[in-house]
Amino acid sequence: MITFTAKEKSIADRIKGLKQASGSHSPNKGTMLREIPELHIKVDACFLSNPYANELFLKRLKKDIRSPKIFKDIIESYPSQNRAIAKPLAKHLGVPPENLFIGNGAIEVIQAVMHRLVKGKLLVTLPTFSSYYEFAAPGTEVIYNYLKKENNFLWDVENFIKTAREKGANSVIIINPNNPDGGYIPKAGIKRICDELSDLDNIIIDESFVHFPTESAAGEIPSAAKLVATHQNVIVIKSMSKDFGIAGVRAGYGVMNKAKAAELLRNGFLWNSSGLAEYFFRLYTEKDFSRSYEKIRRNYIKVTQGFIKTLGNITGLKTYPSQANFALIELLDGTRAEDAVLKLLISKGIHVRDCGDKRGLSGEFIRVASRTKKENKLIVSAFKDLLSHHA
Ligand SMILES: *Cc1c(COP(=O)(O)O)cnc(C)c1O
Repeated sequence: MITFTAKEKSIADRIKGLKQASGSHSPNKGTMLREIPELHIKVDACFLSNPYANELFLKRLKKDIRSPKIFKDIIESYPSQNRAIAKPLAKHLGVPPENLFIGNGAIEVIQAVMHRLVKGKLLVTLPTFSSYYEFAAPGTEVIYNYLKKENNFLWDVENFIKTAREKGANSVIIINPNNPDGGYIPKAGIKRICDELSDLDNIIIDESFVHFPTESAAGEIPSAAKLVATHQNVIVIKSMSKDFGIAGVRAGYGVMNKAKAAELLRNGFLWNSSGLAEYFFRLYTEKDFSRSYEKIRRNYIKVTQGFIKTLGNITGLKTYPSQANFALIELLDGTRAEDAVLKLLISKGIHVRDCGDKRGLSGEFIRVASRTKKENKLIVSAFKDLLSHHA
């Protein structure tokens, strides 16, 4: 059992208080550090972000922002309208611009889709990113499909299709790779689901982690965005927060059929991207930046898969297979996940995510994000240290 000193216990209680106040998401890092000055976060492996891409973006931003004109424009001018930001992005993605809806982060796209386009029965697969059931509009009935621990939380495509039919779903949601376990459906599986369920109102595919599967390390990103052209009910939702390490910028988008995008835009969302988000989208579609990012992305996939393998070799825990930039681990030596997370944070400054509040997970689960090679080493040794003391 993990034990806490009196001082550690007092810090732990304050962390728990902050966590309670932030619902099903983790409290913001700045808030935590302000409220609990004794806390030192050395490695933040709770939030999911590619640190190398963040570095690339910051380097460029720092340079550009020194130009008084660029900075002044970002701050003083209205950003472009939703449709205008969509234009260069559409070209970059290879989809028609009328099919794009730009969001203030993917969360705004999720909100808009859930409230304007989803009706009747919505099939959500657990465990999942909680907003997909929390933001259901009144009148939507959320029904569930479960990934099984015994099956390593892997998706069974045929079973998913069968469940959608048996339960009479009008819309379904697939997060690919899934959060919090990183389970992945290869492109052919997604195509099969879209072909089989072509009569549903919506097939929502959240691709926020689609830059990380090993399948994409040698080439193309396995996005389903182009399926929208042939499958009128497909809606692809994408956050830029994780793969670019820019959650604070708030950039995300949805790809959906023209009529759906137009319906969302009729309800507002005119200047919902900030100047900084517009700046990011422009950079994202720029050739040179794209090329530099691509190198970083491929290297980060290698770093991440190596990290997940090393984590899996630690005695006392199990690592579930992941194709995202994090791993879901289960403590098997009787240690409570909540205690482990608090102890790691307070005594070692390693911040990871306790999954005790995630629906559809029963056991002692922790989600650990992959960071830089150096930071990942610190995470591994912290876990080794923690578990060897309590075996
Ligand atoms: C983080 C996350 C989001 C939200 O992304 P933002 O662009 O930061 O709003 C959406 N979907 C999934 C699956 C996520 O993990």
